[in-house]
Amino acid sequence: MSSAVLVLNCGSSSVKFALYDPESQERLLNGLAERVGTPNASITIKYASGPRTIEDLAGTDHKGVLATVLDELGDWMTENGVTISSVGHRLVHGAEEFAESALITEETLDAVRRCSPLAPLHNPANIAGVEAAQAVLPDVPHVGVFDTAFHQTMPQVAYRYAVPTEWYADLGVRRYGFHGTSHLYVSGAAADMLGKPLEDLKMVTAHLGNGSSLAAIRDGVSVDTSMGLTPLEGLVMGTRSGDLDPGILAYIAGRTGADVDSITNDLNKRSGLLGLSELSNDMRELEAAAADGHEQAALALEVFTYRLAKYIAALAVPLGGIDVLVFTGGIGENSHGTRAKVLDHLAFLGFELDPEANDRTIRGQGGPITRSERPVALVVPTDEELVIARDAHRLAATANPDQTNPDKEVSA
Ligand code: AMP
Repeated sequence: MSSAVLVLNCGSSSVKFALYDPESQERLLNGLAERVGTPNASITIKYASGPRTIEDLAGTDHKGVLATVLDELGDWMTENGVTISSVGHRLVHGAEEFAESALITEETLDAVRRCSPLAPLHNPANIAGVEAAQAVLPDVPHVGVFDTAFHQTMPQVAYRYAVPTEWYADLGVRRYGFHGTSHLYVSGAAADMLGKPLEDLKMVTAHLGNGSSLAAIRDGVSVDTSMGLTPLEGLVMGTRSGDLDPGILAYIAGRTGADVDSITNDLNKRSGLLGLSELSNDMRELEAAAADGHEQAALALEVFTYRLAKYIAALAVPLGGIDVLVFTGGIGENSHGTRAKVLDHLAFLGFELDPEANDRTIRGQGGPITRSERPVALVVPTDEELVIARDAHRLAATANPDQTNPDKEVSA
């Protein structure tokens, strides 16, 4: 029997899951449950032999979905001699409570609940997922891996807002940053790719997907990032505005009568690439439309790349220069047009694009895309689930070695 780590990412209506072999770090399978709790709920499991979709899940909650997934995986696990030895949960907001991943106990869950006001949409759904998984897999260690934890190394000068101090002291108003697992993974992978110790590199990592953020990494740790108290700050994103003048809120409220919730909703869901283009939040669609002469799509791409380049250059301040720029996420890994525009803006820092390398480095390929070696720009495909699997395995083993003993593992 070999052991596997189950990685879970539970949203309010979705559950993403994956099984990892903790020794080889290979992903054995993955899948997605969508529209959980609605009449159209479905689960798709991607086996190496092909996908299988399960429907007729009407009324099933997170626990029911997880029970169905484990039931479905049962035969596959028996055939492949695999048992689940630990579960790693993606948890969004750990605030100042969590500077690293944590074994989930009642105290841990209470602390995650205390962080919920900072992520009212995400943390409660994450907690519901943990409780459902603990009910279905009660005998294996569960580990929480936080989006925010990686950035807890930021110094005050980077994380404090210039607002009344009691907002920070009493209400936790500070910059936390997100996408930590991705920034952690790609920074390590980039250093490996370059054959240099991470600690010796002044690195900016650009996670560019539907949500986008940058991290400045010095001496191997995050020293600044573009997201803040919430994932709304910083770069232009698919549907999120990123940075703006906070005065806009009062102005829009005064002019339209809209309340804070409705304006916040517009800033999260109707802004960014979608708001500018009035066409789509999807980079592929916008690139195709811009190539066909759609002016607003072209403008959206220009604003996206301009803000991105400006913010990357700003991170040269906490780093004292930039040795390495890493592109990752759906856009960073695939949109060679975005990368070329950004590096063009940043030519003054010494980045010299290699157009051929840039054009061919797509769809899961990684590698350098500049002729310049210092600074160098790299594409590094991210693997957030692998970080979660690694941490779950590591913490499960230190917490209770018995439970990672294959003889004592629990078959689903
Ligand atoms: P993610 O949230 O990391 O899955 O990234 C989603 C974003 O990546 C969307 O804006 C997609 O349009 C973009 N993306 C994915 N593939 C490509 C591609 N081949 N070219 C340009 N953008 C892409």
